[in-house]
Amino acid sequence: MDALAILILVVALVGLGLVAAVTGLIVGRRRGPKPLPNTHTDVIVKPPAEAAEDEPPVELSSPPATIEPETEVPEELLEEAPALERPEGTASRLVRLRQRLAGSQGALGRGLLALLSRDRLDEDTWESIEDTLLTADIGVGPTQELVERLRTRMRVEGGTGTDARTVLREELLALVDPSMDRRLQVSGADGQPGVVLVVGVNGAGKTTTVGKISRILVAEDHSVVLGAADTFRAAAVEQLATWGERVGVEVVRGPEGTDPASVAFEAVKEGVTRGVDTVIVDTAGRLQNKAGLMDELGKVKRVIEKQAPVTEVLLVLDATTGQNGMIQARVFSEVVDVTGIVLTKLDGSAKGGIVVAVQRELGVPVKLVGLGEGADDLAPFDAGAFVDALLG
Ligand code: GDP
Repeated sequence: MDALAILILVVALVGLGLVAAVTGLIVGRRRGPKPLPNTHTDVIVKPPAEAAEDEPPVELSSPPATIEPETEVPEELLEEAPALERPEGTASRLVRLRQRLAGSQGALGRGLLALLSRDRLDEDTWESIEDTLLTADIGVGPTQELVERLRTRMRVEGGTGTDARTVLREELLALVDPSMDRRLQVSGADGQPGVVLVVGVNGAGKTTTVGKISRILVAEDHSVVLGAADTFRAAAVEQLATWGERVGVEVVRGPEGTDPASVAFEAVKEGVTRGVDTVIVDTAGRLQNKAGLMDELGKVKRVIEKQAPVTEVLLVLDATTGQNGMIQARVFSEVVDVTGIVLTKLDGSAKGGIVVAVQRELGVPVKLVGLGEGADDLAPFDAGAFVDALLG
């Protein structure tokens, strides 16, 4: 009996041991490995867009701005929260876009500098300099002027130790003309809103530019109303409505085919009634013929001015269209008093010389440049920064 009791005791003890071991394993697995310090307590977010795949996640000790909605915000609160975007702040936008400008235009300046820094500036070299400038769409007249000035200065100052970079920078800057007033007239007089009329051919980037300008104004605490007067393209009206919704800006629109002038009139009327700072009016860009265009834009401007004066007429030009774009620019400047140029798609073109060509042709300054399809990819044009971007 004693032996049997001992056997039972041993079996019971072994059984208990096994159960304890298995339970321990499971509990151990649930608990997981001992956490490394500081890897699981903070909320971890990746900054949108910029974060590269292989970058370590950024750890924030205070609550992050972007939280996964499903896990952090209750459904009912999400529905009530306004889905407004906050446009990018001016400082970060300008730094980012300056780099992008240097990326697309840098090759031009570097090419010129390399040619101008040669030991011997012979005829072949001057010809290559001329070709480089013409290829960058600076235009024949300005190219010849620049080459002439560079020849003279390099001959006179070449031996005195003045470096080619300094000469090239000064001459390019003179050509771009830093003295032009490039401020956007977005405010009206006597408590009236500023009225910005945006014109240009379809596809140049008009609607996108209207949306981008409204974001810049919102970021600077201006109140804005948009007028979707490109009523011939239903998509343009929808597109502008979306731009407005994203930043909480009212968009005045009419059904497809409505008279553009009546939409423009209503938009400015709404702006006046609400006492906003700026009304921006998108227009149709059908380049049917000069008379038709003149009738259409002339009427839009006339009816707007029954409410408030137009303070700025911006011509939107696609920088990648070269000579064709210049011809369009000429037609528009003949039918409406253009006060500023917006050059779009400079991110996709190394032909920044068009800045010089179009300013010469129309006698009005480039005021803004489009540098991408992103919502905040629009920058004020600054002559010094532009030349610096060219020279890298
Ligand atoms: P609209 O017909 O003149 O109103 O032209 P849209 O505003 O519809 O623009 C036509 C296309 O150009 C769209 O795909 C825009 O995203 C694109 N676009 C506009 N501005 C820029 C820019 O600065 N850079 C680039 N890469 N694309 C742009």
